[in-house]
Amino acid sequence: MHVLVLGAGQLARMMSLAGAPLNIEISAYDVGSETIVHPLTQTVLGKGLENAIAKADVITAEFEHIPHDILAICEQSGKFLPSAQAIKAGGDRRIEKTLLDDAGVRNAKYYVIQTREDFDLAIEHVGIPMVLKSALGGYDGKGQWRLKQLDQVEAIWAEMAACIAETETQAIVAEEFVPFSREVSLVGARGKDGSVAVYPLAENVHTDGVLSLSTAISDIELQQQANEMFTAVAETLDYVGVLALEFFDVDGALLVNEIAPRVHNSGHWTQQGAETCQFENHLRAVCGLPLGSTKLIRETSMINILGEDSVPNSVLEMAGCHIHWYGKEKRPGRKMGHINVCGDYSGELQRNLCALADVLDEQAFPAVHQFAASVLSDQ
Ligand code: AMP
Repeated sequence: MHVLVLGAGQLARMMSLAGAPLNIEISAYDVGSETIVHPLTQTVLGKGLENAIAKADVITAEFEHIPHDILAICEQSGKFLPSAQAIKAGGDRRIEKTLLDDAGVRNAKYYVIQTREDFDLAIEHVGIPMVLKSALGGYDGKGQWRLKQLDQVEAIWAEMAACIAETETQAIVAEEFVPFSREVSLVGARGKDGSVAVYPLAENVHTDGVLSLSTAISDIELQQQANEMFTAVAETLDYVGVLALEFFDVDGALLVNEIAPRVHNSGHWTQQGAETCQFENHLRAVCGLPLGSTKLIRETSMINILGEDSVPNSVLEMAGCHIHWYGKEKRPGRKMGHINVCGDYSGELQRNLCALADVLDEQAFPAVHQFAASVLSDQ
């Protein structure tokens, strides 16, 4: 089986690693340079989308900001999973919000802004404080504003107007500010036969808008809410593959923040912590194979390595620690790799995370240090 992945980053790389034992071969299409590359070595294998499509049995995607004309060509081939519609919902907050409403899942009140008048109507409809997000091209907290008081309106409008003018189809989605206690996410897979397999929820810590620490959690009540919303969204899209839902936890009630129609950073823990990892389950789903068990086999956390191309070698000999590098060139803030940390029970995971905090640089890994400090203060 030959799977073409739109996008040639770390997610395609990890799909390639997970697919090898099943004889699923991956090539990656770099949408920017229009080249087909090997997902591990980045060696150029060919040029042109038509060429890439012809060689593939199945086409899928590792990111959602894909030009619609490319999605249309892939969909026309009859090989593309999940659908172009699902990818578009992940890449455009307007489509995403409509999808969430159609699926009947709770999400923050919103209003779409294109003009200065719309901004006033949004303030009326949504209220202050509000979070303003560009409809297109936003990720990891980029393209966002916070309106806390009316005297900020003109300054924020000036920036938003410039953002809207930059791209023909751009708009801003104004959202009510959600007073959440924590952020969690659910990663799950839906097969061609409609079967669904979801992983345990992950609790996520963000640093400067970027995921820094993600831990699989056990919470029966929250998990049930999340599972129901996952199924509603996946069935509305007739989704095939791995899908991630990010939630705000507001005193035990979940609200969907956003969806990602692909394998997700908050599911990387499944490589060591689950019976079948998210990358393998995505490939199984899009290739029409039975889904693998999503059972938690060890308590696991994932720590993102951001902007660093090395960690002390001693991490390799620490209990329960597994390093995954992405083979990328170092740039400030760039996702360079991650460390999965495991324990047989939650106290052991906690101990292993605290031990890691002792060897990892505090500036580069603030979330692990904050975790270790909170454990210390609880003692
Ligand atoms: P997003 O790109 O939508 O995931 O937003 C980035 C981060 O901003 C989220 O992880 C939240 O921490 C925060 N955020 C986004 N939307 C809201 C909201 N409506 N209310 C409060 N915080 C938000």
